[in-house]
Amino acid sequence: MTRKRKIVLGCGGFFLIAFIVLFNLWQSAIKKNRQIPVGPFQIVGNLYHVGTTNVTSFLLTDPEGHVLIDGAYPETATTIIESISKLGFDIRDVKVLVNSHAHADHAGGLAALKEASGAELWVSNADADIIEAGGKGEPTLGPIRFAQFMGIATFPPVKVDHRFEDGQKIRVGAIELTAHVTAGHTPGCTSWSFPVKDGDREYLAVSIGSLTMSPFVSLVEPETYPGIREDYENSFKTLKNLPADIFLASHTDWFNLQRKLRQRDSPTDPTPFIDPEGYLRFIEMEEEDFRWVLNKQEQDLAEEEE
Ligand SMILES: [Zn+2]
Repeated sequence: MTRKRKIVLGCGGFFLIAFIVLFNLWQSAIKKNRQIPVGPFQIVGNLYHVGTTNVTSFLLTDPEGHVLIDGAYPETATTIIESISKLGFDIRDVKVLVNSHAHADHAGGLAALKEASGAELWVSNADADIIEAGGKGEPTLGPIRFAQFMGIATFPPVKVDHRFEDGQKIRVGAIELTAHVTAGHTPGCTSWSFPVKDGDREYLAVSIGSLTMSPFVSLVEPETYPGIREDYENSFKTLKNLPADIFLASHTDWFNLQRKLRQRDSPTDPTPFIDPEGYLRFIEMEEEDFRWVLNKQEQDLAEEEE
């Protein structure tokens, strides 16, 4: 090898290493930023937010025991436990743990939270094996380890105590959750609905699991997993038909959690979390994206076949 070539290769290696180091630093900064706690605070009645700037975790309380929806990132479990205790509750009184879907930013903390609480974990049939395998086998995240880069692939595995199908009801004291399997984002992605009382008024809260699509998802043959397109179609239908008053989701920006929290102090809009229009608007936006991708993939497939 000539001296000149060695220098060029040496420079290439340096830039590659520098790129990897910078990329990792950038990723860990994003991840850290996404894990700053927001609150904890009461949303309405016995419903509290105990999650972070980016990913939600909701606590529903009852004298007979509490329910926790989602465990955020593996590293966020301690933040969630601290948030619960700041509100004056005890993680050991959480009797039921549920999940929106089997990605590390929502299921990552479940193992630690289950251990700290002794709660029983309920997961939809189609996501249960993925949760027990710590994220392995999740089909929608793509062929390259894109998800690994994003920190949403693998996480500490956790034993599922109860597996369920769409429509399952879970009760703890006066709390009653209904599972809506709104699949597509993962094969068993679940949205949760539950009534919340505020004085003598009752509201229906709906927490949307996810309706987004990873860039590698195929909605046409061969589908990313058999039936993914139909799953998305059903998920839009199911969610649009729920008479949601309180709009919640697994990511804070989808329902503008931080803006609503600030807005709540304003005299003009003291109840921003009651947002049926925002709920429908979000589903419509996600459906528009889905139709666009589906259309594009169908066109590409037709061109290939010509
Ligand atoms: Zn996800």
